[in-house]
Amino acid sequence: DPRIARISSAIRVIPDFPKPGIMFQDITTLLLDTKAFKDTIDLFVERYRDKNISVVAGVEARGFIFGPPIALAIGAKFVPMRKPNKLPGEVISEEYSLEYGTDKMEMHVGAVEAGEHALVIDDLIATGGTLCAAVKLLERVGVHVVECACVIELLGLKVC
Ligand code: IMP
Repeated sequence: DPRIARISSAIRVIPDFPKPGIMFQDITTLLLDTKAFKDTIDLFVERYRDKNISVVAGVEARGFIFGPPIALAIGAKFVPMRKPNKLPGEVISEEYSLEYGTDKMEMHVGAVEAGEHALVIDDLIATGGTLCAAVKLLERVGVHVVECACVIELLGLKVC
């Protein structure tokens, strides 16, 4: 698809951020390119419309940028998957491993119902640990995860 090249070139790579040795994929420049940003959303909408998806679950923080426009376009609700102690209501949480240590992801109880079909969205997949935690959270409450979608895949990393 010719749109992919334009999207890819709109993403800026910043070396040594936030730590030396990391090539940070910065999607804020994609958001400045109105055509590339729209093409990004359109590609997801084309893939996920008519798939009976009632939930788009966005992973904090950049899943909150790409998730809502996709949710609106396919007629699904948007559910934020947040870092710990951010959501005000009752939550269920899932711990997951990072390169060093662990983190936690939380979702509001009652945001989704058993039997719903969900799409999980984030900006980037590296090891897949973050997306796995989101899938586990949703599956624990009986939601069927149709697919996980990301704008960027870091190649050469082992996915969990
Ligand atoms: P994973 O859990 O190893 O797949 O890492 C994916 C998570 O790390 C996502 O939530 C990303 O937003 C974040 N992440 C890792 N590297 C980058 C990067 O270069 N740019 C933006 N986000 C990143």
